[in-house]
Amino acid sequence: MSAQLLEGRTIAGKIKEDLKKEIEALSKSKGAVPRLVSIQAGENAASAVYIKSQKKNAENLGIEYMLETLDSNITQDSLLDLIEGLNKDKGVSGIIVQLPLPKGIDHRVVMSAISPEKDAEGMHPENLGRVLLGDATLAPCTASAAMELIKSAGVKLYGKEATIVGHSEIVGKPLSMLLLNKFVTTCVCHIATGERGLLPEHVKHAEILVVAVGKAGLVKGDWIKQGAVVIDVGINRVGDKIVGDVEFDAAKERASFITPVPGGVGPLTVTMLMKNVVAAFKMQHELK
Ligand code: NAP
Repeated sequence: MSAQLLEGRTIAGKIKEDLKKEIEALSKSKGAVPRLVSIQAGENAASAVYIKSQKKNAENLGIEYMLETLDSNITQDSLLDLIEGLNKDKGVSGIIVQLPLPKGIDHRVVMSAISPEKDAEGMHPENLGRVLLGDATLAPCTASAAMELIKSAGVKLYGKEATIVGHSEIVGKPLSMLLLNKFVTTCVCHIATGERGLLPEHVKHAEILVVAVGKAGLVKGDWIKQGAVVIDVGINRVGDKIVGDVEFDAAKERASFITPVPGGVGPLTVTMLMKNVVAAFKMQHELK
């Protein structure tokens, strides 16, 4: 039987409805709305698409959106000065710095310079630490999006076997902690797993599978466990098509739930960013 699709847009729609109401209420009670400042240094096609989506989503929800466009030859010190100013500005609720940054700028230094309370992407070491401790208010957006999709499948997480393919800082590592915090037995695969030829083995026993690598067709459809929940984070351009990392057509015949690419994780990632901005605003105004 063919899997049910986990459509990010539908799930995002419900979260956005709630956020919109919450922002309207905050506007009435506080006389202010959340403001997100997005920093882009230099030009990047993928960032440009993401920025467009951030702006549209923010405006639809009633979040103020400001884009700071910087030259590609900006120095790290100037970027840090800008962030320091935004950290101090009480009118700014959230800050996001688009990656990749120009050569010579250390993204870890930059991410760590953002105030943890204004860290819209949830990538500050303090917020990542909170994910580890099971106490996250601002968690990494893509990992949270994957988690929302898994929850939307309605399966009981306690004791489930999960495999995550890809151990990046923005997806695989934080997601492994979010799943562990729900008592999911979690296996994380990376390049060395692939090089030893052990990916099929780890994928085959996964009741929950998340793939975040960026290689089209890396996970074969016949590796998928019958009835698995499959979250494909990968975005790959193949000819004029965008595809994920999982062989979708074959996988959907074995999975119980599967995300399409595009239309799965992507629309939810930007929604989780907006959710973080609202959470940041509330923290700054000492609201729960
Ligand atoms: P990344 O930082 O490049 O991480 C890729 C991960 O895959 C690394 O952990 C890498 O391991 C691992 N890997 C590479 N080859 C492998 C193999 N053959 N077998 C097993 N693991 C392998 O990428 P990312 O930023 O996490 O993004 C991953 C994908 O998700 C990309 O396609 C990206 O476009 C997409 N993405 C989508 C969204 C969304 O909202 N939909 C958001 C973010 C990212 P090593 O580090 O050990 O090499």
